[in-house]
Amino acid sequence: MREVDIEPLDPARLDPLIGPERAERFAGATEAARRALDGRRVVNVNSTSAGGGVAEMLQTTLAYARGAGVDARWLVMEGDEEFFATTKRIHNGLYGEPGDYGALGVAETRHYESVQRANAEALAPTIAAGEFVILHDPQTAGLVEAVRAAGARVVWRCHVGCDIENEWTDRAWKFLRPYVESADAFVFSRAEFAPSWVPRERTHVIPPSLDPFSAKNQPMSPRAVRTLLSQVGLLDGVEALAPASFVRRDGSFGVVARYADVLENGPAPAAGAPVVLQASRWDRVKDMAGVMTGFAEHVDPALGAHLLLTGPAVYGVADDPEAAEVLIECMQVWASLPHERRHRIHLSCIPMVDPDEAAAVVNALQRHASIVVQKSLAEGFGLTVTEGMWKARPVIASAVGGIVDQIQHGEHGLLVQDPHDLATFGAYVEQLLTDADLAVEMGRHGRARVVDEFLADRHLAQYGRLLQSIDR
Ligand code: UDP
Repeated sequence: MREVDIEPLDPARLDPLIGPERAERFAGATEAARRALDGRRVVNVNSTSAGGGVAEMLQTTLAYARGAGVDARWLVMEGDEEFFATTKRIHNGLYGEPGDYGALGVAETRHYESVQRANAEALAPTIAAGEFVILHDPQTAGLVEAVRAAGARVVWRCHVGCDIENEWTDRAWKFLRPYVESADAFVFSRAEFAPSWVPRERTHVIPPSLDPFSAKNQPMSPRAVRTLLSQVGLLDGVEALAPASFVRRDGSFGVVARYADVLENGPAPAAGAPVVLQASRWDRVKDMAGVMTGFAEHVDPALGAHLLLTGPAVYGVADDPEAAEVLIECMQVWASLPHERRHRIHLSCIPMVDPDEAAAVVNALQRHASIVVQKSLAEGFGLTVTEGMWKARPVIASAVGGIVDQIQHGEHGLLVQDPHDLATFGAYVEQLLTDADLAVEMGRHGRARVVDEFLADRHLAQYGRLLQSIDR
């Protein structure tokens, strides 16, 4: 187990955005939680400190919790290749997908449990009775019993899920159920994700949130955006006067020092060219390959738009063993496209060595994009959608999972009902590229929706109530 440092953030930072009434309610909620916790720690455990929505969210919500006087901690568990191959299989299963079609049998169970035992041995002695432990996702499910035995209250939060059951969801839940069944509380990003055997009274629905001031979401001027993107090699023809910088989560300044790895057969997009962006982990469920094919086959090249598919460098996300494979598949799809279509399609990987720097690059990309896309086949919540909305970008996304809780079709973006329907996807891209008023309007509504529903005050108040409700 490795502890991730979290610099406290003052929750009052949110006040100008949320207004005095909401700020007062938020202050009341954090004060109530702080008093109820009375110094007891809230320990979060997941399996990676960078890359993906869970790490993103822990980083920011825990910083605000600490700023509010709650002793929130973040531990990252250890696992080997075989363990993460198994947990990725479970993860894919919870999305209703077969993944690598590998087994979840006796051998996988035995290895999963041996890794859990080693992590439990490191974790349990550090936990005091009466503390709270929030375990995130299938990787940590096997720690529930050890945490309970240490006398702590345990919450298991599952960030992934699927609205409909199939053989793959059944198989994944069958694997997880014995480990998690005794948790004091379960958290899902949407009610539909809870399997029927989870008792209603222990089920809590808490959608994620984003931090408007993190390196991922902090304001950037259009010039700063262009400077940064040109510096990392993702924009062409921009003369930068000074190196791109960003504000780190601890308040200090960072300077962008690394290039993105890019696959393209011509120059990067020119500063004035429309960019359609999907920024995701290299995961089949995100369907980067489908986005590419849809763009190549159904978006009129005369519109002059570029498609940018970007994800973390594949060695950067410890718990995602399929990333390299998926990236290679995407490179093969790219290489098979006609040369003139490929010309405006760029694949890029962002180094994750410095997570704040990587976040600043994603921030600039999302701000520069004419359209933010998230055409996933399944989605737990889809923070990339929230991030695009926050930046007042029109979003085109599949009508799956938590995305439908964020976007109302026609209001904050356009929802592709069937994620495999590439013709509709292409038609939506063309619609937003050619109707600037509609794009601006949707972006405006999207940003307002994020302020209303997806900031840390709502998120932390829900957590506070949950922890108080299981405090016996
Ligand atoms: N992300 C990133 N770098 C990338 C691509 C994605 O930091 O190259 C971030 C993205 O900005 C978002 C998170 O990873 O914050 C993805 O979260 P989401 O909920 O969309 O999907 P998940 O990865 O959790 O399935």
